[in-house]
Amino acid sequence: MVESIGNVARHRRVPIVVPRENGYTLIYAPAVSGESLANAYQRWLADLAESKNLPVCGCCRQHLFIKHGDLEAIKLVKSPWEDELIEKRVKNPAEVEKLIVKNCVVEDVGGFLLPEEIPAKRTSKFRVSFMVPAYDAIEQLALESQFHVRYAPDPSLHKIYYVEVGSALYVFQMGLELDEIGRSTMLSREEIVGREERIKRIEVAVEALSHMLENRIFGARLARTNPVSEVRSLLVAVSKPLPFQASPPHTRHYMKDTVERARDFAGLISGEEIKLWAYDSEGACEGLEEISRYNTISKVFSEVLNYFRQNVE
Ligand SMILES: [Zn+2]
Repeated sequence: MVESIGNVARHRRVPIVVPRENGYTLIYAPAVSGESLANAYQRWLADLAESKNLPVCGCCRQHLFIKHGDLEAIKLVKSPWEDELIEKRVKNPAEVEKLIVKNCVVEDVGGFLLPEEIPAKRTSKFRVSFMVPAYDAIEQLALESQFHVRYAPDPSLHKIYYVEVGSALYVFQMGLELDEIGRSTMLSREEIVGREERIKRIEVAVEALSHMLENRIFGARLARTNPVSEVRSLLVAVSKPLPFQASPPHTRHYMKDTVERARDFAGLISGEEIKLWAYDSEGACEGLEEISRYNTISKVFSEVLNYFRQNVE
């Protein structure tokens, strides 16, 4: 929830084109932005990385994701390595990437941009969509403004306000480029941290995601409108060497569709391997033997990490 209009706090709304039997319908529906999900993910990533003694820069540690994009703004929490960064930033973007990745796991995974004369940038190693209502439940969403009063001893000082609340079945997609974590990707492809630390960073990146989903702690206004929510289903695809994306979970057929696509894509690209894991409380993966199913989200990600540890190069 982001928009305040007078004394009403409204949901963010986005236009969604929904396919119908005959054509399409345009619907304006509530949504959670990708920035909101990315912010939560990077907060958990910063906290988990720090708790495991992996490097996190001063700003990211405080959940201020400036990412060295404004060197004026990092002044108050600057470390010695950031002085070196300020010296190198104009002429040597490759060195800038190495220096930042070495010193901050959040920017290793989440990328950064220094808009200098020669810009230094690292594309985020995770990509996330907006969270939007599922096509097959988009008619079943509701929003309603709830009346509240801040009470005061003097009745003329009472303040009324409205918070819009609602209910919907949401979907979203996220991708993580595990292979690029701990490696430079802007001008060359080199290991920036040792193998052992690279593995730790990848584990933390996956753990932060599983924590965000298992406990559903993301978004704004949690203090008084913490959603009473549950995950209906979740599908994880791990692929190598090319990235493979699961089908959008707009209908319950998404797992079946993903299985067919994974099989055919692996048949098309020689050497492509794709593994699938799921949590499912809505019967989406029934009868699909290609998917390993577990009873909790934590277990799904434990199995994903076990597979990763056995196959890491
Ligand atoms: Zn940082």
